[in-house]
Amino acid sequence: MGKPLNHKARKRFGQNFLHDSNVIERIISSIAATETQHLVEIGPGKGALTGHLVNSAGKLDVIELDRDLIPVLEEKFSAFSNFTIYSSDALKFDFGSLLAKGSEKLRLVGNLPYNISTPLIFHLLDNVSIIEDMHFMLQKEVVERLTASPGTKAYGRLSILVQYLCHAEQLFIVPPGAFSPAPKIDSAIVQLTPRGPVNNIHQLKNAELDDLSFIAKTSFAQRRKTLRNNLKKILSPEQITQCGIDPVRRAETLSINEFVALTNQYVQSLEI
Ligand code: SAM
Repeated sequence: MGKPLNHKARKRFGQNFLHDSNVIERIISSIAATETQHLVEIGPGKGALTGHLVNSAGKLDVIELDRDLIPVLEEKFSAFSNFTIYSSDALKFDFGSLLAKGSEKLRLVGNLPYNISTPLIFHLLDNVSIIEDMHFMLQKEVVERLTASPGTKAYGRLSILVQYLCHAEQLFIVPPGAFSPAPKIDSAIVQLTPRGPVNNIHQLKNAELDDLSFIAKTSFAQRRKTLRNNLKKILSPEQITQCGIDPVRRAETLSINEFVALTNQYVQSLEI
């Protein structure tokens, strides 16, 4: 056999391995995979979740960046015919390539490396049309941002972009002691469920997610300032008013629909 299996956790790969069996069981039962489903685990590590997932899912693909962990995973799981390892960077991974024609959408799972969680979520938002749902372990503070409502401190660009496309719900909090090595902060499990166009959320018209991201970022540039102030280079007070929004409001008071309205207004103003 190749490399020894006594792998040491690496900080640069955000490695905090789960060892608390109660927490593992809770995550697995929240996911509740069935034998017809196609699951994808990001960052399987030494397989704390993988062993349970491979037994319940129809198909399990895992994406792991640390090459030294590949032999560990092969040793444990290569006997399963429904299991495939991709030795790759999830940030660059083409998730669409996993989906067979006409097959069910992907269910994504992962105790994510904290250092890449936000860029990874943005990468996945570009692929929501092929995703059934996502269950991720993240820093509790990031989960609070993902699920935040207007008027709260955690509400910002990440909340707006994610909630425009997905229903976001915090399932439960996980304390540092559940991991080895233990991180300094609490973690939480979040469930993100992409929603189709049929809902009460307004739609972007001729605008991209990047435009919504730009408007959200610019609106929050100085959190304590008014919209009029933060948006002065791109939208006039009259244009903000035309969206039914008082320009003296602060960004954190706006609903997602209002951000969509501002984005549509901005894109339309570029076309004139
Ligand atoms: N799932 C395991 C567990 O719960 O014990 C490990 C979780 S650990 C927090 C994060 C895992 O993601 C590590 O195995 C790490 O090597 C892997 N990882 C880090 N960056 C990655 C990337 N860009 N793409 C894929 N995997 C990555």
